[in-house]
Amino acid sequence: MAERNVSPVEKNVYYICIPCARVSREPRTEFLYVSSLEFPFTCEICEQQFQHGLLAKRINPNNAPTHRCSACDETFQRPSELFSHSMGHSGDWEYRCEYCYLGFYSDSYREIHLIQRSLIRDLTCVRCLRPFLGKSCPNVYSDLVRLNKIFCGDCCIGSKNIIEYVTQ
Ligand SMILES: [Zn+2]
Ligand SMILES: [Zn+2]
Ligand SMILES: [Zn+2]
Ligand SMILES: [Zn+2]
Repeated sequence: MAERNVSPVEKNVYYICIPCARVSREPRTEFLYVSSLEFPFTCEICEQQFQHGLLAKRINPNNAPTHRCSACDETFQRPSELFSHSMGHSGDWEYRCEYCYLGFYSDSYREIHLIQRSLIRDLTCVRCLRPFLGKSCPNVYSDLVRLNKIFCGDCCIGSKNIIEYVTQ
């Protein structure tokens, strides 16, 4: 469990948790949202168990990936759309963070979450080791720390809404 430097997955079909999938740079991967309340899945990347997550599948470079929700059979063009959609199936929440799609039972909990998000954090990029400032939802931030995926704006490819970069 000490080894946090993620190596690329070698399997063609594997389970992955949503936090890992969000920061994954694996190209040509198709995601299927899966959930089970009986037995947990194990994420291939971080080895954590989850009950709501994704089945990832490598696809042929000539095929366009379709990301599908197994709970309602909707399909999405982009993985981020599936991730935000599938979060809705993992709880009956009325209120949702517009950044990370976390759900809340009441608007005041969402407010607290957004206040925590508005905190400007002193971060250090794990790739280039430069310090930078950024905002992030507290749950997303702890996922990024756990997965060792704190990247500065220059080192981060895609996945823009994970950290909101702050320039002074
Ligand atoms: Zn994971
Ligand atoms: Zn669905
Ligand atoms: Zn959030
Ligand atoms: Zn960097």
